[in-house]
Amino acid sequence: MALKDFFIALSENQFLNDNAKKYGLKLGAQTVVAGTNLDEVIISIQKLNAQGISCTVDHLGEFVQNEAEAIAAKEEILRMIEAIHEHQLDAHISLKPSQLGLDLNVDFCYQNIEEIVSYAQQYKLFVNFDMENYERLQVTLDFVLQLSKTYDNVGTVIQSYLHRAMDDLETLKNTRVRIVKGAYKEPETVAFQTKGEIDANFIRLAEYHLLNGKFTSIATHDHRIIAHLQTFIREQAIAKEKYEFQMLYGFRTDLQKSLADEGYPFCTYIPYGEDWYGYFMRRLAERPQNINLVAKQVFNK
Ligand code: FAD
Repeated sequence: MALKDFFIALSENQFLNDNAKKYGLKLGAQTVVAGTNLDEVIISIQKLNAQGISCTVDHLGEFVQNEAEAIAAKEEILRMIEAIHEHQLDAHISLKPSQLGLDLNVDFCYQNIEEIVSYAQQYKLFVNFDMENYERLQVTLDFVLQLSKTYDNVGTVIQSYLHRAMDDLETLKNTRVRIVKGAYKEPETVAFQTKGEIDANFIRLAEYHLLNGKFTSIATHDHRIIAHLQTFIREQAIAKEKYEFQMLYGFRTDLQKSLADEGYPFCTYIPYGEDWYGYFMRRLAERPQNINLVAKQVFNK
């Protein structure tokens, strides 16, 4: 647990985030981040699409310090939407409200997000709102519910470590939802702390949304949960149009390919951009074994 806290603290350190940008992908991050620019990520998406794998693309960025940075982030996402359309990629967008100015001004952030959603809608592209830390949860849900009144291409994430997850899922019944365990450090007042509770809640939420919800993205690398839900999907005859499995780019690539080869709808979450550092530190926090990626880079010079 101490190691997890250490990496989460590193992920939140603004000085380190700012400096990492200057030096390009380092420390092994290139195995889990698909490049620093649009051209590089397009090639990665095309390779995955050729294997029958769809992608959700995330232009990395969390700490924006002023409105100009948030607008630049919005423009990059608009360019990505255009590129998906132009190259006919099997892909959609994932975004983080904080990267679009949530912490600067909520209305300003909403306008940026609505511009993205409405632009994506014209190409029938789905936009997923990643879920960040607990402080940002309610406002993110409010955005999604508000936008769903006008647009049908928005969805978000439910984190199974949260006590309130089932209630939130109920309000998102008519929405496409990604179920995850949760990547941030949250106190026991709001979140389960043990793997057993988080895993059990994940299964409960996924089964509920598979049966009652619009569309479920089952986002985990946990082969035990995947196997359990494969059986559930078969027994309940859940249609392929109602779900997909999701994993992060560069993780368990053999398992990703074998699920796609077996005919399961599969989507890889594919992050790119210069702002790779916070994302990479959270991956180390989840699974300190990933430090092997770092060690290999440091020693194999
Ligand atoms: P873990 O609990 O990390 O692992 C369970 C078991 O699976 C391990 O004990 C091990 O046996 C096996 N395993 C896991 N990884 C590996 C590996 N690399 N190699 C071999 N075995 C392995 N979090 C958020 O808070 N908000 C989001 O919006 C969000 N979006 C996400 C999108 C996607 C597509 C994914 C996959 C995750 C996302 N997450 C998000 C992160 C998520 O919350 C978890 O922190 C992360 O996925 C780790 O949990 P896990 O379910 O993959 O399995």
